Amino acid sequence: MAVDVSAAGRDVAGPGVAWAACPDCGLVQHMPALAEGHFAACRRCRCTLAVNTGYRLDAVLAVALAALVLLLFAILSPLFSLHAFGETRQSWITSGVAELWREGFGFLALIVAGFSIATPLVYLGLLIAVLSGLGLGANPAWLGPAFRWTQILRTWAMPEIYVVGGFVAYSRLEKIADVDVGVGGWALLAASLAFIAIDATIDRRAVWRAIGPDEGARPGKSAVACLDCGLLVPRTGKAPCCPRCGAVLHHRKPQAQTRTAALVLAAAMLYIPANLLPVLTIERYGRIEHHTIMAGIRELAHIGAWPLAVIVFLASIVIPLLKLLNLGWFLAAEMKGSPRGLLALSRLHDIVNYIGRWSNIDVFAASILIALVQFGVLTNVTAGLGGTAFAAVVLLTMIASRCYDPRLMWDAAEGKR
Ligand SMILES: [Zn+2]
Ligand SMILES: [Zn+2]
Repeated sequence: MAVDVSAAGRDVAGPGVAWAACPDCGLVQHMPALAEGHFAACRRCRCTLAVNTGYRLDAVLAVALAALVLLLFAILSPLFSLHAFGETRQSWITSGVAELWREGFGFLALIVAGFSIATPLVYLGLLIAVLSGLGLGANPAWLGPAFRWTQILRTWAMPEIYVVGGFVAYSRLEKIADVDVGVGGWALLAASLAFIAIDATIDRRAVWRAIGPDEGARPGKSAVACLDCGLLVPRTGKAPCCPRCGAVLHHRKPQAQTRTAALVLAAAMLYIPANLLPVLTIERYGRIEHHTIMAGIRELAHIGAWPLAVIVFLASIVIPLLKLLNLGWFLAAEMKGSPRGLLALSRLHDIVNYIGRWSNIDVFAASILIALVQFGVLTNVTAGLGGTAFAAVVLLTMIASRCYDPRLMWDAAEGKR
């Protein structure tokens, strides 16, 4: 159930009052205490400011510990076994990374290793450390920065996206050979569900309040909002640090338009080779086939895996294009300074931020396929340059979303620039 938050300075000013600055539109407003199951929405742009999930932090800690154990199983055990031509091959997450590296695709290897192994492990490690610290009643200075990093790393930790990539690889493989899902595959599926459970149960505001009080500076020109923990901090120097989470604070993200425009332009240029060049090269009995992203989607549809074909089409073709158009639209809206469609644009920004990471499905699927299908002259799958261009598009648009500051659209519409 949504709880409306009252306007800044309206009738709730006083000592001990918690203020929150909306990360999407910048409006500073009073943050009420939330009952279980309620969430607070920004009174201007309707973005969700806080959710009281009703779950205790020690329950979230238990899920995080389970997720860590499952993820370690997933990394150390085989994901798939493939039986073909009298041989059996097994694949781990790491074997996809190693094969990409061996074939000279170092950038793709780093993307797969980073998003499927490194960031999920670091994210869980930091989350467990923070929740354990709070559970033990300890509150050292590193707790705030560590929790801030869990929020940043969650976007880049992608076990659930790797699982969908695994479904895509499995569907393509089972039509040509016997394929079994290994212990690692099931463990990764369970770990992904645990990651989703953490997202659904963690009350981030409760964690921040346990680390440090919500009561910061009074709203006004002398205060700057922390986008990471929501605290209002007195503007003392050029770029003060948040006393709760350690983030460097700016009134608005520095050079947001220039950085976003440069990243969008670079991603738009790479989108063309990403779709024209092969992502995979399949060699069967000496015959070489180059598979672009679209060819992979057609193959999924051809073998009857229609739901996956639709998911990959949306994730690989539609979402990156939508993201580029949306970011371009945000920049244009800001230059125009028109208040029209601001609400829709703010919601779109949230959606685009959330779904952009799902474009990595094809990158993960390719890493699984090239690790498994290595049967010498009989059948071989190798990576293609299209995969590198595609992964770069996804990475650049994700960074562009992070660089962009949607509050600038609201500022421009209000004539604040
Ligand atoms: Zn707002
Ligand atoms: Zn902060």
